[in-house]
Amino acid sequence: MPDIDPEGHIPVFVPHLGPEVYEATAQALDFGYLGLGPLTKRFEDALASWLDLGREGRHVVATNSCTAALHLATLLAGAGPGDEVICPAFTYVAAHQAVSMSGADVVFCDVDDGTFCLDPDKARALVGERTKAIMVCHYAGAVGRLDEIYGLADEHGLRVIEDAAHALGSRHRDRLVGSFGDLVCFSFGPVKTITTLEGGAIVTPRVDEVATLHQHRLLGVDKDTEARYESRRAWEYDVVRPGFRYHLGSIPSAVGLAQLELLDTFVKNRRDYCRAYDEAFAALPGVTTMGVDWEDVGPFIYPLRVPAAARPGLVEHLRARGIDTGIHFFMGAHGFSQYRDSRRGDLSVTERVCHETLTLPLWSFMDQRVLDRVIDGVQSFFA
Ligand SMILES: *Cc1c(COP(=O)(O)O)cnc(C)c1O
Repeated sequence: MPDIDPEGHIPVFVPHLGPEVYEATAQALDFGYLGLGPLTKRFEDALASWLDLGREGRHVVATNSCTAALHLATLLAGAGPGDEVICPAFTYVAAHQAVSMSGADVVFCDVDDGTFCLDPDKARALVGERTKAIMVCHYAGAVGRLDEIYGLADEHGLRVIEDAAHALGSRHRDRLVGSFGDLVCFSFGPVKTITTLEGGAIVTPRVDEVATLHQHRLLGVDKDTEARYESRRAWEYDVVRPGFRYHLGSIPSAVGLAQLELLDTFVKNRRDYCRAYDEAFAALPGVTTMGVDWEDVGPFIYPLRVPAAARPGLVEHLRARGIDTGIHFFMGAHGFSQYRDSRRGDLSVTERVCHETLTLPLWSFMDQRVLDRVIDGVQSFFA
């Protein structure tokens, strides 16, 4: 595990890789079955149990990234060449590329000023004959006006894809993100709230989609997933649909199982740190915090909003004190060369807030001295 000297350099992210991760990895290596196997199934079951999916009749399929999960979600939505998926411009380009992989076109939609989540009114204006799905991103773990998004999707018979890469442990109306709604995708990438090194998962409300997902995940092959879950192989099989190499192997699954054991602690600690930041920055002129109740959020990042003109100076000021910052996101994805010609609506909020957000260090076990240094760094800049 990286050793963070509280007086030394402070990174934005520090994955927690405690002895339990090393133990789980060693055990999995000793077991000797490395591919998609029983540990993958165990990880899926443990995640389903943490999310309380059994009670809700929902199903989880682990993938080797959230990007893969989002791609599969796009396929389940029936989106392909000639179709459109409405996406926030203000999110990670993984989401847009996942849609592009299906052959469907990305349509860029603005976010709400304040939550930075998809604006349902602006999304409504973009729905057309070709629309197959609406994708949302739970920015910094907050879900925004999600009920209105589902209402809009219902009206038009569209599927909703929730990019919940930031939202493991977030709640909406007392229900965990993933335990309700349509297709929900999580990331367990290197810096996410829990990690499987690289990994992700998709949750579907439809039992008939589980086999489809298993097949898409493993080269379109039928039956083999069930065999591999029991350390066997189906040596004769059919290939029944387009397929990818998207499964989560045994070693990442073992890491994920160890991480899940600690997830309650991760979430609790992160909430405490976010509250400490909120409190420290509440009175700073020109500084806006997310304004969320962290009790409802599984915090992945802590974004601060500052005047655009102040941001570069603040970054420099903190860097001089050995404190790294991140930017989520420095521009709307509609500005990338790849998406130059994509259809879009009014993106004025995205255009503005991408110059105003700054991500402060946040991880699962932060020393009080680290928090104090970050707080003092920000306060002293605005003093
Ligand atoms: C991390 C992230 C992704 C991609 O997740 P991977 O597991 O790295 O593919 C997608 N969307 C958002 C908002 C993310 O933060």
